[in-house]
Amino acid sequence: MTIYLDSAATSRPGEACLNAMCGMMRETYGNPSSLHRFGLEAQLCMEQARKQIAAALGCEAASVMFTSGATESNHLAIRGAAYAYGRRKRRVVTTTVEHASVKGAFDMLEAEGYEVIRVAPDADGILRAESIVSAVNEETCLVSMMLVNNETGAVLPVQQAFAKIKREYPQTVTHCDAVQGFMKLPVNPAKLSADLLTVSGHKVHACKGVGALYHKKGVRLIPLMKGGEQEGAMRPGTESVPLIAGFGAAVGELRGTIAVRAEYASGLRSECIRQLSELEGVTVNSPADGSPYILSFSVKGLRSETMLHFLSDREIYVSSGSACSKGKQSGVLQQFGIRQDLADSTLRVSFCAENTPEDITALCTALKAAQEQLVHKR
Ligand code: PMP
Repeated sequence: MTIYLDSAATSRPGEACLNAMCGMMRETYGNPSSLHRFGLEAQLCMEQARKQIAAALGCEAASVMFTSGATESNHLAIRGAAYAYGRRKRRVVTTTVEHASVKGAFDMLEAEGYEVIRVAPDADGILRAESIVSAVNEETCLVSMMLVNNETGAVLPVQQAFAKIKREYPQTVTHCDAVQGFMKLPVNPAKLSADLLTVSGHKVHACKGVGALYHKKGVRLIPLMKGGEQEGAMRPGTESVPLIAGFGAAVGELRGTIAVRAEYASGLRSECIRQLSELEGVTVNSPADGSPYILSFSVKGLRSETMLHFLSDREIYVSSGSACSKGKQSGVLQQFGIRQDLADSTLRVSFCAENTPEDITALCTALKAAQEQLVHKR
């Protein structure tokens, strides 16, 4: 029996998503830019999906732009907003715990001559709002900060930081990578004081290859590509209507259950922590007040990769640190104050509403077996 505990890497597409996607591919396969009725039907389906994402974010449908995923949304937001300032302001602020796609966008800006300020957590591993706020000044054109860290589940103080920044420097554009928070915690860009906000389809039971960028009206962005007029010419290229329709349907299916699902995930996480505490040499890396959906821990003396394969052989699927790194460490755990030896033996489990307490027991039983077979053998 498959035990999938890796939903933060990607989630299983839900029935609503699959049905919507198949329908679009089988029947409504027109190009939404075509002027005939067939094209119009595809466009209507896309607009329906836009409304569903907007409803979940509590914003206007016109503020939602579809992209190929969070990586593209992050690049469009960060580089697009920075380029919109031209030569006037070339100072940008981010954190040292961002996802590789945000880090990559800032590295590109740096290579182009921008001054990039990367704010680290304090010595206790906590990234405080004041640290971000005090890094911003008159010259700062953009600040980007994630909502939920994908490796530890730490929830960053985006609302406190952005509200203060917007009060003191209203011209500074605020961007939030909310991928690991969307449809898991309440995410509302206006409440977060975010001008731009990134979400991804495949983390919310839709398909890979689709995401969205919330784009507050009036915030200037320079598109990264030139081509057709799709998505207000911000993101040219024929829209992937099946992926977009599936994304809308998945979000529609999850809306209204954010609180109950979070409570359920929280129960699974607590149970996992309880069972881990019965094992020897296990350290929990996630903060107690982190996302209920992500739990990072280290098993002393056992390397992440060895554990991951041991579990995989037993059809239990988890991540080592972060999934995007393919076994290569991002350094984010160390930024949160996690010791190198513990970082080398870190596993990340991530939950969804489909997981059961039995999955947790199976995981912890397998971890115990790994300790007996792998540690004691040496
Ligand atoms: N940001 C965060 C916080 C993520 O966890 C991920 C996915 N690992 C991404 C961005 C990239 O998302 P996508 O795969 O849709 O490009």
